[in-house]
Amino acid sequence: MDVRDRFLERTFEKLGLPYPKPSAYALELARKYGYLPYMIERYMHIFGSREELIEFLEAVEKGLPRYIRCNTLAIKNCMDLAERLREVDIIVKPVPWLPHAFRVENNSSAAGRLGSTLEYLLGYYYIQGLGSMAVSIALDPKPGEAVADLAAAPGGKTTHIAQLMNNNGVILSVEKNPVRAMSLSTNIQRMRVKIAAVLVKDILELPIKEKFDKVLLDAPCTGEGLLPIKKERKTSKDLGDIARMHELQVKLLEKSLQFVKPGGVLVYSTCSIAPEENEFVIDKVLSSRSDVELEKITGIMVGSPGLTEFMGYRLRDGLANCLRLYPHRNGSEGFFMCRLRRRGK
Ligand code: SAM
Repeated sequence: MDVRDRFLERTFEKLGLPYPKPSAYALELARKYGYLPYMIERYMHIFGSREELIEFLEAVEKGLPRYIRCNTLAIKNCMDLAERLREVDIIVKPVPWLPHAFRVENNSSAAGRLGSTLEYLLGYYYIQGLGSMAVSIALDPKPGEAVADLAAAPGGKTTHIAQLMNNNGVILSVEKNPVRAMSLSTNIQRMRVKIAAVLVKDILELPIKEKFDKVLLDAPCTGEGLLPIKKERKTSKDLGDIARMHELQVKLLEKSLQFVKPGGVLVYSTCSIAPEENEFVIDKVLSSRSDVELEKITGIMVGSPGLTEFMGYRLRDGLANCLRLYPHRNGSEGFFMCRLRRRGK
């Protein structure tokens, strides 16, 4: 073990995270599929069997179809959208478990044109992965509510939330990066959202005292769920990146909980399957709060429970209420989401 490995092991220990030491089998698969070995070791523990680990790695190699979300704020009947797209040789089919989601059937010929059709420019659809769409369903915003979307650009979830609220209520969309905030504003306009205000600000410096019925923290993450779309992620982030992201996510979640009304709901989500960025973040934040409980996610018929044990570390039972999506089990990018309710009225 070299100096950097020892430093990382101590960092993980301090953060209360298990440190993955790759087995000979993990090293062999890492070489074969081109990953950093620590990743494969963790997948072995997530999936629990060599067969499923291989299924996951093969699904990543295969990649994913493209998906779109039909925007009922701009077009009433989603089958009319499907028909209009067919006329320009883009064939889409509804996804049975997710309202308004359509799978692009002729991916290779259609994918490059998805962002330049007239229907796209008119805001009839948003190009979005299934995991990303599932998050707004997990939040379950209602017309008339006050919602805060705290890491909002480029706006996939802000625009979906507004759709679910039927443009009735109010959404505060916070984004730290001014360039990304511009694409957020553009998408809000294109998707005909009338109830969202954009605030360019770091969540950690938010001066507001308001409390919201629903809060979404779609946290910055290392993108470990996006492997089927971004193969470079196999080698682009090391354990130091995971540790740094874990620390940031803990701070962001602690701060975000301040904006939830008593009785209100916060959804924490990431496009990462890393337990360190998900269950371990929530477990740590909840260890100092007795006023927050983990609630079952309704409305999504697929997915696997959150982890309550990982590499010999035991986590709170309530994390089984969270939802994990995987490419080989659900045909989606890897995603994690969890619903936290603040007690009280
Ligand atoms: N929710 C978005 C969507 O559905 O389109 C995707 C959000 S992306 C996972 C995370 C976003 O959080 C990035 O745009 C990033 O710039 C922003 N971000 C990172 N740190 C932040 C902070 N401290 N305060 C506010 N936004 C932050």
